[in-house]
Amino acid sequence: MSASDDILVAEKVSKRFAGRVALNEASLTVKRGSITGVIGPNGSGKSTLFNIIAGTLAPNGGRVWIRGQDVTGASAAEICRRGVGRTFQISRLFAEMTVMENLVAVAHGVDDRAAVKRARELLEFLEITAIADKWGSELSYGQRKLVEIARALMLQPVIMLLDEPFAGINPRLQNRIVEHLRALCARGLTVFFIDHEMRIVLSECDLVYVLAEGSVIASGPPERVRDDPRVLDAYF
Ligand code: ADP
Ligand code: MG
Repeated sequence: MSASDDILVAEKVSKRFAGRVALNEASLTVKRGSITGVIGPNGSGKSTLFNIIAGTLAPNGGRVWIRGQDVTGASAAEICRRGVGRTFQISRLFAEMTVMENLVAVAHGVDDRAAVKRARELLEFLEITAIADKWGSELSYGQRKLVEIARALMLQPVIMLLDEPFAGINPRLQNRIVEHLRALCARGLTVFFIDHEMRIVLSECDLVYVLAEGSVIASGPPERVRDDPRVLDAYF
């Protein structure tokens, strides 16, 4: 594979919060069209890494490239324009808007009719048309996860960063989300996700990175990472 297959590259990314190290020279590469996972114990820096890639946080050191362009320190809006979509660990849907309104609200630069059309297609694709008119506040936890994904897809990203999309939902819904992500991958989307759900990480990822105390301690195909003594050590 050539370097242009690298849709995302993070090089020696570091972040400190009030002197405390959250990320310590973390480096990783995400290949175009892949499903890539990040695992690691609580507090190991996974969300911080995603926040830096997405432009929500500025790193104290290191660089981030998206599709060959250095985007280190760029704003979240700029990163979004470059084709990076994301969902958050904690839902950020608007409670006083319907699902449809939540989706249409994020579609910048498209007229309302086109936005509604796109939203309908996404709700159909994710099999949640039945909740289109529900208020954000009425949604179950699992429904929120799906609507978050739909909302990120409204902006037609080339890569999706998903922060714990499978956490706290039942295995059936987990499998549905996996199927949707696979279908999106088949259409050319790159999926980069954080999770604790080893079952999914092991069965679905092309490549897995393991973070512990802010450092990448292992990476590789899931079956190799699973048996890595450093990984077992970090978890138990
Ligand atoms: P993970 O997602 O792997 O559970 P995080 O990236 O959320 O870990 O956090 C990594 C470390 O950085 C933790 O010690 C956490 O308390 C700290 N941290 C994360 N965000 C902030 C913040 N905004 N301010 C201060 N400390 C933070
Ligand atoms: Mg987190």
